[in-house]
Amino acid sequence: MSGAIIQIQGLNKWFGRLHVLREVNLEVAAGEKVVIVGPSGSGKSTLIRCINRLEDFQQGEVFVDGIPLRSAQNLEAVRREVGMVFQQFNLFPHMTVLQNAALAPQKVRRWPKEQAERKAMELLERVGIADQAHKYPGQLSGGQQQRVAIARALAMEPKIMLFDEPTSALDPEMVGEVLDVMRDLAESGMTMLVVTHEMAFAKEVADRVIVMDQGQILEQAPPSVIFQNPTHERTRTFLQRVL
Ligand code: ADP
Ligand code: MG
Repeated sequence: MSGAIIQIQGLNKWFGRLHVLREVNLEVAAGEKVVIVGPSGSGKSTLIRCINRLEDFQQGEVFVDGIPLRSAQNLEAVRREVGMVFQQFNLFPHMTVLQNAALAPQKVRRWPKEQAERKAMELLERVGIADQAHKYPGQLSGGQQQRVAIARALAMEPKIMLFDEPTSALDPEMVGEVLDVMRDLAESGMTMLVVTHEMAFAKEVADRVIVMDQGQILEQAPPSVIFQNPTHERTRTFLQRVL
């Protein structure tokens, strides 16, 4: 697949002596939605953190929109292209929702405050939370905070959005509102990599599901295949536990 917006070639990563990513090869096309599943500790978070160089790695190469990351000098250029949403929302508690969403473009893109806040306000509207713009994160529900975190990531106008278990820290009644925002984003054509245990979301939105196991890609296929007819017994066992 040439023209892939993400290319991962022979990626190996160790934490000390622990070999956490083993010869991972993966290409993601622009606009593709990839859901990553697998047992805890299988390397899902580490893999997606390598895609915006929140983690470095010892072997192989990751290209984001053609930029090789292992020796990348300008990590800001990479992080402009790749937005990330974490399980914990990581909003700045002492800043309002609007200030949180407007911060990165001012710092990284050197936008004037007015321009950054105008853009942030548009995005807060898009995630359905414009009416909370002048509150502080602590005054919002978890679902609202996670929607702010998505708006904040989008404010950088990234080409790729990474989600690491974005609904795992939420009360069950708030999961839907966050998945709705992610669904809209998928429909808008964004390239998305999503680590999640929300299998209904994966079935509906993913072009491809990747099953990670012990630092490797165990198998990958469209959701219909992974969920109905997986190749590996270990995939079957994992899915029985989460479905
Ligand atoms: P997952 O997201 O699939 O649960 P992770 O990528 O978080 O898996 O972790 C993969 C492996 O790397 C696990 O064995 C985990 O304990 C280990 N690990 C993750 N982060 C670190 C770290 N910062 N230092 C040392 N070991 C880590
Ligand atoms: Mg993880």
